[in-house]
Amino acid sequence: MIIRLPHLFMSACLGLSSVVCFAQKAPRTGDAKLTEYWEPKVRVVTPGKTSVDPPSDAIVLFGGKDLSKWKSQKDGGDARWNIEGDALVVAGGTGGIETKEGFGDCQLHIEWRTPAKVVGESQGRGNSGIFLMGKYELQVLDSYNNPTYSNGQAASIYKQFPPLVNASRGPGEWQIYDIIFTAPLFSADGALKSPARITVFHNGVLVQNNTTIWGSTQYIGTPLYETHGAKEPLALQDHGNPTAYRNIWIRPL
Ligand code: MG
Repeated sequence: MIIRLPHLFMSACLGLSSVVCFAQKAPRTGDAKLTEYWEPKVRVVTPGKTSVDPPSDAIVLFGGKDLSKWKSQKDGGDARWNIEGDALVVAGGTGGIETKEGFGDCQLHIEWRTPAKVVGESQGRGNSGIFLMGKYELQVLDSYNNPTYSNGQAASIYKQFPPLVNASRGPGEWQIYDIIFTAPLFSADGALKSPARITVFHNGVLVQNNTTIWGSTQYIGTPLYETHGAKEPLALQDHGNPTAYRNIWIRPL
């Protein structure tokens, strides 16, 4: 769709990316209005009372009460993790859980807590994970004084990229990921057109800066892209440790 604004000597190109571009260059002297555009209007969103509360247009995936937005990855039935207070706790052995709805490009807010009682070491300590589109893992792990491989610690893109810094809080403390995810694009013949990208703030600290993801997470071997839909469920990993989640909300972009 092209919106023509002849009085401004420019066009706003509103394609899939919503990028505004200038069809004609405006001179650098004269009327400052030539580079103003007033349409489309920017949508108003009421933020939460604190920065972690869901804004008005978010889909709340877990608000502390029920798992109605989730199902079991194991058998497609009800998600069988435990709700304790306002937290969702991994029930080891019941399998991962995934959203009933699929998501592509999104902003995701998710809070997590590894067990206060430290058990195990390295990858065995509070391990879980957030799988964007069910395929690309942002690692959840107790990485507070817990040596492990750098590209497997908390806030790593698992087995791909370590976080820029370790912004971990201690065991038993709530931690926050704020994620901006761009889904990969595939051509009609299934070839990769553009890879997935991810930006992550861990407890408010930038840890992944528009990182290009190499492919779906592999425990063994190099990652690879397999063709999938434009929207896929968001999944949380059961790695056998009673890691907890709360306040999960998403804004499709
Ligand atoms: Mg994991």
